[in-house]
Amino acid sequence: MRYLPIFLDIQSKPCLVVGGGEVAARKVDLLHRAGGAVTVIAPELTPALQELHAKGHIHHLSRAFEDRDLEGGYHLVIAATNQPEINQRVSALAREHRLPVNVVDHPDDCSFIVPSIVDRSPVVVAVSTGGASPILARLIRARLESLIPSGYGRLADICARYRDRVKAKFRNPNDRRGFWEYILQGRVAERVFAGNLREADIVMENELAAAKPGGGMGEVYLVGGGPGDPDLLTFRALRLMQQADVVVYDRLVAKAILALARRDAQYIYVGKERDNHAMRQEDINALLAQLARQGKRVVRLKGGDPFIFGRGGEEIDTLMAEGVPFQVVPGITAAVGCAAYAGIPLTHRDHAQSVTFVTGHLKDGTINLNWKQLAEPNQTVVFYMGLVGLPIIVDKLIEHGVPAEMPIALVQQGTTPMQRVFSGTLGTILEVVEHEKPKPPTLIIVGESVSLRHKLGWFEAPSRSEEGPIQTIGDQP
Ligand code: SAH
Repeated sequence: MRYLPIFLDIQSKPCLVVGGGEVAARKVDLLHRAGGAVTVIAPELTPALQELHAKGHIHHLSRAFEDRDLEGGYHLVIAATNQPEINQRVSALAREHRLPVNVVDHPDDCSFIVPSIVDRSPVVVAVSTGGASPILARLIRARLESLIPSGYGRLADICARYRDRVKAKFRNPNDRRGFWEYILQGRVAERVFAGNLREADIVMENELAAAKPGGGMGEVYLVGGGPGDPDLLTFRALRLMQQADVVVYDRLVAKAILALARRDAQYIYVGKERDNHAMRQEDINALLAQLARQGKRVVRLKGGDPFIFGRGGEEIDTLMAEGVPFQVVPGITAAVGCAAYAGIPLTHRDHAQSVTFVTGHLKDGTINLNWKQLAEPNQTVVFYMGLVGLPIIVDKLIEHGVPAEMPIALVQQGTTPMQRVFSGTLGTILEVVEHEKPKPPTLIIVGESVSLRHKLGWFEAPSRSEEGPIQTIGDQP
């Protein structure tokens, strides 16, 4: 993050704007709306500024800027003249005085930049692109404008008015949060948005009188986080992640996805690496139930889809037995995500009429699968957790009649900026692996349609080093 976002209290504080043109007028308006005591220094003012001055809303010094102007006890300074030398001079002097200064459209001369804002006072959303593109910031703002109903300001007023009473009634912060979330998404909010403020107050009083603190059972959300690209999350996954009190996650969940969960949630890592389980499955099951019984909303975040090689079934089995409410949110499973991002259609009219997902996980040094069926033609077979067992997979397929020329692809860290695809045939792939040394998580795809990837591949992983590696993922569920 290049800039620290903060909201500054300038109520009745002296603020200086150097310049009296259109650009200056916009900044004066902003400072004035935030309650600042604005002085404008400029030989001339636009009609809008003249009017503000005539109404006594701003102070005007009708002359050019002088160095000593910065000694006037201002809390912040904005330079908005059309003369770059003056703006730069103001900036340099302000910095000498350790005064926050902004030169409009010149980030290099600024000690602070002014964001694009969505004003639903007291709710204010500020958007910055770090000075890179004010136009992009404005486009983002326009989207937010349409997302945030104008009633949100009034809703915030209600929160402010009831804050102390709600706090007195609900001592426990979890109970309090639960109550507010219920209010802000329920009948009170609906009445505010409809403009019925009096009714909203009545409903609020009733809700407050009826609510019982404590004793609530929480809930577990078994959420599929997808294969790595955060854009592939579902809306529901995102919403639940942003409401969670606790996020229980394992190695398969990419950092970029974890970063979207509620910031002040508690994060519990129960990672699973090959042969190095941070927490036993039974303990994870028990932990989820225990957290929910404490009244918490628990997101159990899993890579891909929770029901595909994710042991999701076992986890909700325990919850079911213990009477803990839960929901399951599907995610894009690795096979679907990796195939799409590698340009490999899993089914295809000419090459594959079916697709099979199997685990290539070794048990006692072997893989116990129905090889005869997997060797049938005209299908795509996807192996999860198959990297370690690849030599056995290759052997068994060939032994059961798959030609050595059958295309095969290994997709490493699919859908992420680190995605790599290694391909060959059953006959050559072990050599490729020896040379390229793919790392987990890697998905293996076998079938004719793998060869289409040379024509259909579209996703070019930027593999930018500043992204850092995504958390590497165990080769086991
Ligand atoms: N529930 C998960 C799968 C868990 S098993 C899902 O639905 O995707 C773990 C295996 O999934 C890994 O060993 C690897 O084979 C595969 N996998 C998961 N994410 C992957 C990714 N981003 N790229 C490649 N393979 C991945």
